[in-house]
Amino acid sequence: MKYVSTRGQSPAQTFSEILLGGLAPDGGLYLPERYPQFTKADLQRMRGMNYRELAFEVLSRFADDIPAADLKAIIDKTYTAEVYGFGRSDSDFSQITPVRKLEDGLYILELSNGPTLAFKDMAMQLLGNLFEYALARAGQDINILGATSGDTGSAAEYAMRGKKNVRVFMLSPLEGMTRFQQAQMYSLQDANIHNIVVRGVFDDCQDIVKAVSNDLEFKARYRIGAVNSINWGRVSAQVVYYFKAYFAATKSNDEEVAFSVPSGNFGNACAGHVARMMGLPIRQIIVATNENDVLDEFFQTGVYRPRTSGETQHTSSPSMDISKASNFERFIADLTGRDYAKVTELWQAVDRGASFDLKPAGLFDKVKGYGLVSGHSSHADRMATIRQVWDKYGVMIDTHTADGLKVGLERREAGVKLICLETALPAKFEDAIREALGREPERPQSLANLEALPQRYEVLDADTEAVKNLIAAHAND
Ligand SMILES: *Cc1c(COP(=O)(O)O)cnc(C)c1O
Repeated sequence: MKYVSTRGQSPAQTFSEILLGGLAPDGGLYLPERYPQFTKADLQRMRGMNYRELAFEVLSRFADDIPAADLKAIIDKTYTAEVYGFGRSDSDFSQITPVRKLEDGLYILELSNGPTLAFKDMAMQLLGNLFEYALARAGQDINILGATSGDTGSAAEYAMRGKKNVRVFMLSPLEGMTRFQQAQMYSLQDANIHNIVVRGVFDDCQDIVKAVSNDLEFKARYRIGAVNSINWGRVSAQVVYYFKAYFAATKSNDEEVAFSVPSGNFGNACAGHVARMMGLPIRQIIVATNENDVLDEFFQTGVYRPRTSGETQHTSSPSMDISKASNFERFIADLTGRDYAKVTELWQAVDRGASFDLKPAGLFDKVKGYGLVSGHSSHADRMATIRQVWDKYGVMIDTHTADGLKVGLERREAGVKLICLETALPAKFEDAIREALGREPERPQSLANLEALPQRYEVLDADTEAVKNLIAAHAND
């Protein structure tokens, strides 16, 4: 399997070659040359498999340059009930991603039982083990630099903690994260994890990461890498649970289902699209946004208009507060039939901050054929949905999952089972739960005293040089 760029100007690469990198050299995103195909007979064979077996079945098609025995060992070490055992006390952790039935035809896919209580653990834990393997083989090391407003940073740190040849430098803003999120990251005592608290907001953190990454000499000298949502390894790992959920919710491979996906950077929904392209019988992928509705606007109108940071709202589903959807270019590449010149033209406009409209060229009409539909949600909708689900089913959901459920119920077709992806646990967003329900969310026993643990972080001004100095001081530890 070779990977090509959505802009068509970079040499084809193997899975291992793109694993540690970010964007392709031409500025595009990597995609497999063509999607591996699962036939009905394959699906029948896969139906009874457990999570690890399914993960190997799917990932061995994408990572075919990693020896099968090695890939299998990495998968077996990653997807265990111990790693994914932090969810509700009545969940069946042996399933790794249990499917919870709310009523006939309506399900929650539990993706947030990993160590940071959000779905990003599903892919990031695998990435941590893949990185350690790939670096050892190549005799290299890497310094991962990132900025976080919550979920990504903690998922990366819990995946990379204690890993050989990997250091993490994670910038987070002094204000803006919940106490739980801060404690989750700052309580890590591993020597290879560096929490850098920036006197500023999330945008300041992101600007510093960009500035450091644009210094090519520094980047090369200190072997700077990233684990952001465009990483193909992350997308491919997320494909697996669509298969797992499909088999759990259906009895026959003739049935089609709908997935609703709380969306920000379109990584999760993109994985659903890939699963569908591989032959999984998905009728609808329902893209749910919050007030930051750049994706909803596209799927409703054909216009993709990235927002400015001033237009981007801070909401009660903060992990979906995005101004543009960084994985969206992958879908557009497929929509154009891999017309790389067209994708380049569209994203040259986007990179300038302009928008594009796919209606005139007739491309928008083709979106229907991919099963993608959308909707958006507001703070009041989230609160109402959390209350409804609690009252009706006795199940507590977080604000992001509430966005997904609300839009999913609006957009579903009659007679088609709806599987709503749970992207975080309510314990992570206590204030919102208190507002909606007037009570505290359940918290895993092992995290009961999280906020009281000693914390380890350095506070710096929003100053690129200060951050570079800190990296340089530890880059060879
Ligand atoms: C990251 C995240 C999302 C958005 O996922 P994308 O892949 O960026 O679309 C939704 N909910 C939660 C809780 C997240 O952490």
